Amino acid sequence: MTIRDEKHVRLYLPGPVEVRPEVLDAQANWMIGHRTQESYDLYARLQAMLRRSFMTESRVYLSASSGTGLMEAAVRNAVRDEGTILHCVNGAFSTRWAEISRANGKQVDTLEVAWGEAIKPEMVADALRGKQYDAVTITYNETSTGVLGPLADIAAVVREASEETLALVDAVSAYMGAPIDFDGWGLDVCLTSSQKALALPPGIAVAAVSDRTLERAESIPHRGYYFDFLTLEKYLVRDQTPATPAISLMYALERQLADILDGEGLEARFARHAEMAAMTREWAASRGFGMFPEAGYESPTVSALKKEPSFDIGALNAYLRQRGMVVSAGYGKQLRDTTWRVAHMGDLTRADMEQLFAAIDSYLES
Ligand SMILES: *Cc1c(COP(=O)(O)O)cnc(C)c1O
Repeated sequence: MTIRDEKHVRLYLPGPVEVRPEVLDAQANWMIGHRTQESYDLYARLQAMLRRSFMTESRVYLSASSGTGLMEAAVRNAVRDEGTILHCVNGAFSTRWAEISRANGKQVDTLEVAWGEAIKPEMVADALRGKQYDAVTITYNETSTGVLGPLADIAAVVREASEETLALVDAVSAYMGAPIDFDGWGLDVCLTSSQKALALPPGIAVAAVSDRTLERAESIPHRGYYFDFLTLEKYLVRDQTPATPAISLMYALERQLADILDGEGLEARFARHAEMAAMTREWAASRGFGMFPEAGYESPTVSALKKEPSFDIGALNAYLRQRGMVVSAGYGKQLRDTTWRVAHMGDLTRADMEQLFAAIDSYLES
């Protein structure tokens, strides 16, 4: 039944990523009304699996948006008008989050290190000693630079500093590619998009949210409407969303989470990502591409490799596309000339990586 173009280009991009045919097909189920028992049952099944996936007994909200929507939700629900938020910034996505806070009229401080470096727990501890913050934002995996931060240790520092300081985490390109222990690490908001290591099509986002965050939200009069956590909560307890959810993507999410949690398993999935990342680093080193990230903080889901400005990723991709593959340029003006990125997230396999490296090798030799 399903019509798919024969010209399939496998995506080694840090989102959108390759989606398995079974998951694509799950979206083709008949529509159901979102105020029907069928829909409540689907939502409840998803809720149970989402909680397992974040290792939390708290709720996980579903949003018919991309991840950026929930980045906005997090700051609107966690930061009071008179409060200040500390943004840990080490790349393009962490910069975006600070911009979102400013655009919402929040008072923003930043803790910045050079792009390619990781923010360390001691730096956060220092920043928190000087001032009381309503929240701290942490970008677990900076997709622009390929840096995975020490999230568990940073969260521990935030928890120790103050009960009043909420730990807000962007796990967009880490969730389902690197471990997340929401309750164990004491996180307050942990959000993600569907089109990264979760390996769904884009268009649905999820966030685990703590009780502490809901208490904070109660003290904030203007949280907005669409992304108000208290409204989402009111509906969640009835297995519903306030507005129409992305029903097709919920079908795909159910299929994918069942396959991950009860098929491959979380530990095996994280190990596969670590292995694909190690393979990529080994291949890159042998071909003279250095790693852009600070040593020891290389991402398991996306490798940012250094390159000479003369090495043209557009030309490489033209060659790769003819062989059904595509990689990613460096992020933005700042990194486009000097880096490029090979993503190894989602449901890609070791064999997929070997195929890519063989194709790039033949390009380099030609
Ligand atoms: C992709 C990405 C985002 C943006 O997510 P959207 O789903 O495109 O809104 C935010 N943060 C990180 C770390 C990302 O990789």
